[in-house]
Amino acid sequence: MKCNVCNNKILDENKQIILKKGRICKQCFRELPKPIRDHIDEYTAGQVKYLKKTITKVDPINTWCRTSSHIMGLGDDYIYLKGYKIPISEVKAFRFVFHPVADGKKPNVSIGRITVEITLKKRGVLLSCEFSDKMVEAVYRITKNSIIYFLPADAEFLEKTITEALRSGQDFVEAKKAALKSKAKWDQKKAQTEKAKREEAEAAARRAKEKAERDRKAQQTREEKERREEEQRRRERQQQEQRRRQSSKSPLDNAKDLFHVEMPFTKEQIKTIRNELLKKHHPDAGGSLEKCQEINTAYDLLLKFAN
Ligand SMILES: [Zn+2]
Repeated sequence: MKCNVCNNKILDENKQIILKKGRICKQCFRELPKPIRDHIDEYTAGQVKYLKKTITKVDPINTWCRTSSHIMGLGDDYIYLKGYKIPISEVKAFRFVFHPVADGKKPNVSIGRITVEITLKKRGVLLSCEFSDKMVEAVYRITKNSIIYFLPADAEFLEKTITEALRSGQDFVEAKKAALKSKAKWDQKKAQTEKAKREEAEAAARRAKEKAERDRKAQQTREEKERREEEQRRRERQQQEQRRRQSSKSPLDNAKDLFHVEMPFTKEQIKTIRNELLKKHHPDAGGSLEKCQEINTAYDLLLKFAN
């Protein structure tokens, strides 16, 4: 049994990789770029041979147009993809394919993966490769018989530029110039959009802060008012209670309170107390006539109950 790529003998059957047509040894398999290894069973031995020759490893990426993630880019003569370069002269077609996985948060937005599909001129070989490890958002529009996905701006731009480069053929230099120009414009627009977004976010944060401050003050005022009202109610309740207590008391109770006596008491006792009280509350000593009258009225009443 032979490897269909290097023609070396495969001694151990377990160490061969079966292709769509033919087989290769583990050694040859390991040397292949990852995008090919990932789909190895979709290729024939002839295609693998061709791909091995055409796609070469490259490090670092030196491109004049690339995605922000640096996974993919475009050089003067090559498309760069995940550490490999593919000659533009060998490329027949190129496209991004979006694979929706879930609905986005906004209407008409899907979350999903993007794969890159590169069709090579010879043998109709299709290279398929994950464009990004991360999920991306794509706005979509449903037309009569298809769904159109609008990819993130950098992928969109790269697709447009590479397509333009492929179409231009000999005039690739002109295509590059045009692409660089539109890229500069695109960068500028992106910067502007981001600046506007930043400013909007700042303004929103400021507004939120101001609102929080206003709410806090209003809350404070409300609490202050409630406290005052509660205090007022408490005072009113107190006064009512006092009035109720006083009105419920008999004239005798009031008299006893005033003289600080409890039954039984003698006439002598209350007389002494009256004299002391009158002396204390005499108008000349800073007391009042009303108080003296109150003392005398109480005295007259208490006399009736004295022993
Ligand atoms: Zn081999």
